[in-house]
Amino acid sequence: MNVIEIPDGSPFGRDNLPYGVFSAAGGQPRVGVRLGDTVVDLALLLGDPVFAAPSLNPFLAQGPARWAQVRERIRAAAGGPVPDEARHPVRDVRLHLPFEVADYVDFYASEHHASNLGRLFRPDAAPLLPNWKHLPVGYHGRAGTVVVSGTGIVRPCGQFKAPDEAAPRFGPSRRLDIEAELGFVVGVGSPLGGRIGVDGFAEHVFGAVLVNDWSARDLQAWEYVPLGPHLGKSFATSISPWVVPLAALRAARVPLPGQDPEPLPYLRGGEDWGLDVDLVVTWNGQEVARPRYRDMYWSPAQMLAHLTVNGASARTGDLFASGTVSGPEKHRRGAFIELTWGGREPVTVRGEERTFLLDGDEVTISATAPGPDGTRIGFGEVTGTIQPAVGG
Ligand code: MN
Repeated sequence: MNVIEIPDGSPFGRDNLPYGVFSAAGGQPRVGVRLGDTVVDLALLLGDPVFAAPSLNPFLAQGPARWAQVRERIRAAAGGPVPDEARHPVRDVRLHLPFEVADYVDFYASEHHASNLGRLFRPDAAPLLPNWKHLPVGYHGRAGTVVVSGTGIVRPCGQFKAPDEAAPRFGPSRRLDIEAELGFVVGVGSPLGGRIGVDGFAEHVFGAVLVNDWSARDLQAWEYVPLGPHLGKSFATSISPWVVPLAALRAARVPLPGQDPEPLPYLRGGEDWGLDVDLVVTWNGQEVARPRYRDMYWSPAQMLAHLTVNGASARTGDLFASGTVSGPEKHRRGAFIELTWGGREPVTVRGEERTFLLDGDEVTISATAPGPDGTRIGFGEVTGTIQPAVGG
């Protein structure tokens, strides 16, 4: 029995307490919380069988009063001696998908990203389509292909057609890209026919993860009209193994940059859910972008209100992502299609020119946010390596 030591300046201090699912030494996956470089087995620490599950979902479904109570219990219990069998060095455990993803929706909430993509995909038209400032635009993604950080990403095959080509071809994507995003995890759902208002965000959403929405731009450009992204996105979406609770993000909350025109009443009001989260994107270990979440136009509370305003139910484990986080400056762009301007302005990565991803390339997105008293709250990272296409 020893007290858990937290290295000075660790972004996994007592004010963070992100939850994940881990397995140690061939054991079954179960819920843990990260403190410094230690994973604490919550079923053993708190004696609560809800944490012996291989997923956070049963705990997420218990709701915000219980989330707050457990957070206080962890802080109290982890402040004292913790039994040896309840603690594991993070390097010794395997981290799994932290929750069963129910439905997955991806938004498009950065004005800078949407404008840049508009210029690249529709060079002869206005960058933003007429609906963009009236509703958080999104599409339904594929929940079953959300994978945990570290999962290999097989280069997708599909149809593509360049504008100057007469007919589409089939083969491995040649414009494989990333999208650096935050994702929000629903704990408490809502009934079919019900709605979650903008002021209901913290009653329903448990926390946030990092998301890499891998995107095959050549497949996407050919398929997306008129119904939106499909196979260019659905082959894989990676998330970080740690879910940072909203309770850890209190000091990170900021007002939105400003919405003009004023949105319709169902998207107005509520508390500020802009988030001062700094993301870092590395490509084969070299930093290539530093997107800032505080630049996002639509808040996650507005996204959830919009998602349910038609009476669509929400479920425990629903994941909705923000869309690429991009800012006004080039080094704030969270997708390589923007960073290399459609592949026309290559970036140099460890001495090699890159436009889109090559087989063997590794991309890692990490993030931190302000915590109380000058501390930092870490999200950890989401990483993935590109594997060669199969059957191209
Ligand atoms: Mn996306």
